[in-house]
Parts: sequence; structure tokens; C-alpha cells
Amino acid sequence: MKIILASNNKHKIAEINELLDNRFEVISLTEAGITEDIPEPYDTFEENALAKAQYAFDKTGLITFSEDSGLVVPALKGAPGVFSARYAGEPRSDARNTAKLLQDLEGYAERDAYYQTTICLVSGAKPMYFKGTCAGTIAENVQGEGGFGYDPIFIPQGYDQTFGQLSPAVKKSISHRAKAMALFITYIQEGLS
Ligand code: IMP
Repeated sequence: MKIILASNNKHKIAEINELLDNRFEVISLTEAGITEDIPEPYDTFEENALAKAQYAFDKTGLITFSEDSGLVVPALKGAPGVFSARYAGEPRSDARNTAKLLQDLEGYAERDAYYQTTICLVSGAKPMYFKGTCAGTIAENVQGEGGFGYDPIFIPQGYDQTFGQLSPAVKKSISHRAKAMALFITYIQEGLS
């Protein structure tokens, strides 16, 4: 079965393909002939995920799923949240986003945070949502170069290193994306076959 993954984030696409383990043939937006940026104007992960998946489905008629994710820091009233990708403005930069977050948290003892993701599946029927979270804390400084986004400053619960230092296998076993993808895979195998 061929499905579109409505994303242009190559790190995200790589992690999702790894989690799918070749169960389905996933094609990117570019491969589906969609080269324009799809707007993500909403302030919830659900609405942004639906906007991306619906856009690609309407253009192609192919079953599409999307993923909208971010890092939530309760001490910063939920920031960067849905603005995670462009927290430090345009052009988007993981390094500048990470530096801004460390600066915003300077002097804070309360450094709890969690990653959140919502996957949305649009197949012509009612849109379906699959969610995952991963709790942790924000480190005092950048540590490691693995992963992407905020991984070099995110220490998952139960570990004392950041996702930037831990192996991809650890992230694959406990991440927000892994949890949501497990629900998605079960649904798509049972529901759409
Ligand atoms: P989206 O592509 O609009 O969903 O934005 C997702 C943003 O959230 C990314 O650009 C990262 O800044 C952040 N993010 C989401 N998931 C992760 C992750 O697994 N590691 C690090 N950062 C993440």
C-alpha cells in the first residue's frame, strides 16, 4: 500500500520510516508532486496535523498521514509548543531554537518538559488521530549531536544523558513519535487492510 507522509522534515521522515520498518510504501510530499509549503497556522498540534494531511489528500486522492510535534515546557507556559520549529524565527534553525530555549530558561530550577506529537490520517473517511508524549527535563547546556531539533538539550525521564547523546535505538524505543506510530501502525494494519 502506498501512502503519503505529509512532511518535508528529513529527520522526521527518517525516524518515521525507521519505525515503519518497510511495512508500507511511504512517499514524501515532493515525491507526490507537492513542492509548496503547506501552511500550519493553528495553535494546536491536531489542527496543524489535519491541515497538512488534508491538503495532500485533496491534491492527490492518496491516503495521507502527517505528524505535527513540538516540545512543551510548562514553566514557559507551554512554549515553544506548536511554534517549536520556528521558535527563534525564520529561517528555521535547530541551533538557534535550542540556544533561545536555554536562554529563556536561565535561572529556572523548574526544567521539566515533554515532547508531544499528533499523527493525523486522512483517507476519505473521518480523520483519525494518534498521539504520543515523552517526558523529560531540559539540560543546562547542549550535550551531544545525535537526533535533531531540541534533542541535544532534552534528557528523557529515566536517563541522565540527552537524546543527542543517547543512541537512536533508545530514542526509537521511548520517543513520543514511537508511541504514536505504534498506535498508527496497529490501526492501519487492522483498520485499512
Ligand atoms: P513540525 O514539523 O511543524 O511538526 O515541527 C516539529 C518541531 O518540533 C521540530 O522542528 C523540532 O523543533 C521539534 N521536535 C519535534 N519532535 C522532535 C524530536 O523528536 N526531537 C527534537 N525536536 C523535535
